[in-house]
Amino acid sequence: CGIVGVVGKHEAAPILVEALKRLEYRGYDSAGIATVNEGRLDRRRAVGKLANLSDLLVHQPLPGKIGIGHTRWATHGAPSVSNSHPHQAGSVAVVHNGIIENYRELRAELAEFGIQPETETDTEIVAQLTEHYLQNGDAPIAAAYRALDRLEGAFALAFVFDGHDDLMVVARQGSPLAIGHGDGEMYIGSDAIALAPMTNQVSYLEEGDRAVLSRAGATIHDAAGATVTREIKTIAIDA
Ligand code: GLU
Repeated sequence: CGIVGVVGKHEAAPILVEALKRLEYRGYDSAGIATVNEGRLDRRRAVGKLANLSDLLVHQPLPGKIGIGHTRWATHGAPSVSNSHPHQAGSVAVVHNGIIENYRELRAELAEFGIQPETETDTEIVAQLTEHYLQNGDAPIAAAYRALDRLEGAFALAFVFDGHDDLMVVARQGSPLAIGHGDGEMYIGSDAIALAPMTNQVSYLEEGDRAVLSRAGATIHDAAGATVTREIKTIAIDA
């Protein structure tokens, strides 16, 4: 239901939880974050209020300066830790807003390679498909883009990768996604309101856009694959 992300200079976990709090008004049943720390991808997830995730993070901290976060409004699979985002398969983790309409067909396809679902969600297939392409030799951006090519439905998605602490891939198709531009830090949010404490410089992905983020900035591609620029707007801060 809500997506946030940061590729930054500071610890990501508190920034992600704070940004998710700003999306609480939209409603959710569970929440989670994933970071890459010293090359290692890891995640924490909790059912219920964001306070439950915060409590978990006190006992099991999640260091790292790049990360993605999610508040879930379940559409496929009951609210549970296992169905909570981020979804991870091997060396990729994904957060998703929306519905992947063709997840059953894609599951059947991966079953032929012995890849089985471990959750009840439509989202998990995005991570599994990307991991499958990574295993076949694709680099992270190519693997994520190839997976995105296969998806039908409505989604905003963000990907981070084990071994890559300066790389995030995002996509928008039918669900909004804003990119926040900071000073040596980049952010994403399903609603720009989530980014207000960090930056007032925001560009909005257009339908079918994908983007590759690093600390240095964002490279945006349109639905046809052309590199494009999306105007950076100054939004009114309500921090
Ligand atoms: N369809 C996904 C799920 O049920 C994402 C739901 C959402 O947008 O929060 O996990």
